[in-house]
Amino acid sequence: MIAEKMKPYLQNNSAIRAMFEEGKKMAAEFGADKVYDFSLGNPNVPAPESIKEAIKEILDQEDPVFVHGYMSNAGFPHVRRAIADNLNKRFGTKFSEENLIMTVGAGSGLNVCLKTLLDPGDEVIVFAPYFLEYGAYIRNYDGVLVEVEPETETFQLNIADFERKLSAKTKAVIINNPHNPTGVVYSEETIRRLAEVLERKQREYGHAVYLISDEPYRELVFDGASVPFITKYYDNTMVVYSYSKSLSLPGERIGYVVIPDEVEDSADTIAAATIANRISGCVNAPSLIQLAVARCADAEVDLGYYDRNRRALYEALTGFGFSCVKPEGAFYLWVKSPVPDEREFTEAAKKHRILMVPGTSFACPGYVRLAYCVSYETIQNSLPEFEKLAKEYF
Ligand code: PLP
Repeated sequence: MIAEKMKPYLQNNSAIRAMFEEGKKMAAEFGADKVYDFSLGNPNVPAPESIKEAIKEILDQEDPVFVHGYMSNAGFPHVRRAIADNLNKRFGTKFSEENLIMTVGAGSGLNVCLKTLLDPGDEVIVFAPYFLEYGAYIRNYDGVLVEVEPETETFQLNIADFERKLSAKTKAVIINNPHNPTGVVYSEETIRRLAEVLERKQREYGHAVYLISDEPYRELVFDGASVPFITKYYDNTMVVYSYSKSLSLPGERIGYVVIPDEVEDSADTIAAATIANRISGCVNAPSLIQLAVARCADAEVDLGYYDRNRRALYEALTGFGFSCVKPEGAFYLWVKSPVPDEREFTEAAKKHRILMVPGTSFACPGYVRLAYCVSYETIQNSLPEFEKLAKEYF
């Protein structure tokens, strides 16, 4: 008999599976090129060539016992140093390898942070819409998720509702910048306002409230947008990073957590997070890809590819009458459903062989998410169908 706690996940899993199966069925019926699947955030731009070269060189040149062996649970010290140096160069920070823990992607990095911080019943604030796995990650440690209402004009953070939801029970706050699912990049002004409320409430409650900044899309920004480097604005911050999207390496499972010296009890926090990495069963992040990303600290994927898709889809859809915030980051378009129940809209879209994710899957009904990390041809071929779909509403 499986644990009671797992039963709701089976239910949810079958909904995601159903969407996946439906996509496959449609592709078999109409041909893969006639199905416009915008449902998955799986990067389609190849990883940089330098990653492949680095992996080959490591395997050819390094001692296999070193490459494939166990290591410090936080990861190879020289890898962490190379990443810390790169962050310091780009953001003017002062991290050393001691401030970094290599993790099995951002998913694991978030779990490391939450395992380090949460006692049962501790509250964690998240801002709707949000990556729904946050709820599962928080429940892993018997934390309680508290949701802030969306700010539907700009999809920046709703600071007024945040202040209402923050309580003496709040242990941590999760933000995600650039943002999945809206594609919004939080401005410096937004981050300053968030930090001001956190500082004030910490003083009032007399204990730390930690900010966990989930940043797997940090480098995926367009139109000259820049992502404020969060540790400069608030001391009790942990940054969670991943190479899944920025270097198109989601299957390699590699990322890191930064815990700056300014975090309260930083030595204990770093030590606890390192142990959390170990006892969550990850032990350490995969060794070969750690070594490879350290050699490719300045590598980038072809952002122009995503940008072309972003422009084409945004301009066409708004031209057809749909409304959405202009995305400046990640690879998602967040479109307002023309009818209140967005699932009715996603069903109507399926008749045009267009697949998209209902906002309910991000705790924000009334909207849909389109992941434009697809081929440019898919975008182009989908547009006449979007136009027909629009004519059903406008
Ligand atoms: N956080 C957000 C907002 C994401 O969109 C994702 C993946 O889609 C993750 C975390 C998990 O990323 P990773 O593949 O690094 O575990």
